[in-house]
Amino acid sequence: MERQIKIIRNAIRCKNCGEVVESKSRHDWECCKCFEESNGKTGVFCDGGLSYLRWGGTPGTYEDLSETRPYTDEEQAAYEKKIQKQKDFLFWGYDD
Ligand SMILES: [Zn+2]
Repeated sequence: MERQIKIIRNAIRCKNCGEVVESKSRHDWECCKCFEESNGKTGVFCDGGLSYLRWGGTPGTYEDLSETRPYTDEEQAAYEKKIQKQKDFLFWGYDD
């Protein structure tokens, strides 16, 4: 299975207004002040916390401040075990 990526920091800087926007948890949606003031016509937003990177706004107007690293062998093994558990459950669920 492909090596997973761990997110250490989920943050971008808006090149339009200079604000750093950081999402700290999965449903922590944050945007910069120019995004808010222009109703999304300029600027950027950031979402997903340490679960996934979800960025949006004006293309090309952000600077990537995120930090990621590959899973350690231990984290990868735990992840693969979890995925296998989910697959086993689905199979069991449809099998009478
Ligand atoms: Zn901005």
